[in-house]
Amino acid sequence: MKKISVVVPCYNEEETIESFYNAICAFWNQMGDYEPEYIFIDDGSKDKTCELAMQLAKRDEHVRYTSFSRNFGKEAAVFCGLKQATGDAVVVIDADLQHPVETIKDMAMKWEEGYDIVEGMKSTRGKESATHGFFAGLFYKLISSMIGFDMNNSSDFKLMDRRVVDTLNTLTEKDTFFRALSYWVGFKSTYVEYEVHERVGGESKWSSLSLIKYAVRNLTSFTYAPLHIIAYLGIIIIMLGIGLGIDAVISYAHGNAIGGYPSLVILIVLATGAIMTSLGIIALYISKMYEELKNRPRYIVRDHN
Ligand code: UDP
Ligand code: MG
Repeated sequence: MKKISVVVPCYNEEETIESFYNAICAFWNQMGDYEPEYIFIDDGSKDKTCELAMQLAKRDEHVRYTSFSRNFGKEAAVFCGLKQATGDAVVVIDADLQHPVETIKDMAMKWEEGYDIVEGMKSTRGKESATHGFFAGLFYKLISSMIGFDMNNSSDFKLMDRRVVDTLNTLTEKDTFFRALSYWVGFKSTYVEYEVHERVGGESKWSSLSLIKYAVRNLTSFTYAPLHIIAYLGIIIIMLGIGLGIDAVISYAHGNAIGGYPSLVILIVLATGAIMTSLGIIALYISKMYEELKNRPRYIVRDHN
């Protein structure tokens, strides 16, 4: 019998973890002949998530749990789950039941047809503010053009064949972007659509600031375009300088030299702004390299069964 592992990253999910477990168990009978493996990764929760996962593991031999020493973020939890999974296919799904468990059946059917990756695509983006929608749209447009796939409406909800999981497990980079890496590795992929549900309990861990940081981190992971833009910006400023210089000389030759102070202030502000922005962008990449160089573990395990 084939085995499907279900990886569930959990951070402060005491209100949802049991409902999730009950929902997926109730659903699994419809899955057909697949042995389940439920892997709960407690990402350093401050509530009872870990204890609840331990209880589930005691009750059900199909449940495994790993608990982190502190909060390392969803990416770390997902990659830890991929390392632990022993199934022939692995599904990554949120603990809050926003990803409908029934979709796993559609994913498994596509997998049986021979697809290595089945992406879960949101048919609608669920409830979110207009500004959030706008910036999320912009971010995905940028990322999509960089990796050459349309990532709009993509999510972390997906099924991957063992081959894909083994490949992802060989990646040594610490600063991962799971959602895009599953496109980047290639393989035969397809998608199924699903409707985003409301959270069953608890609250989302994302603030506007953390979303901006997430976007910057992932963009710098997948593209060097900002570094190239700096070079172009430099050329534009040099051209501007040459133009202004020629203009000044011509004006001087005609006996009406241009006013010194305002043009100087404009130039200084322009150049300083461009230099600071450019240095900032370079610093982003350097700090990223520094992070990778330190080679610290992506997560630290405190407990597991
Ligand atoms: N999550 C995690 N570590 C974190 C933040 C979130 O493991 O630092 C988990 C969380 O428990 C949930 C999933 O990632 O299972 C998605 O998180 P959330 O529902 O907060 O995100 P949203 O659905 O609002 O995008
Ligand atoms: Mg959620």
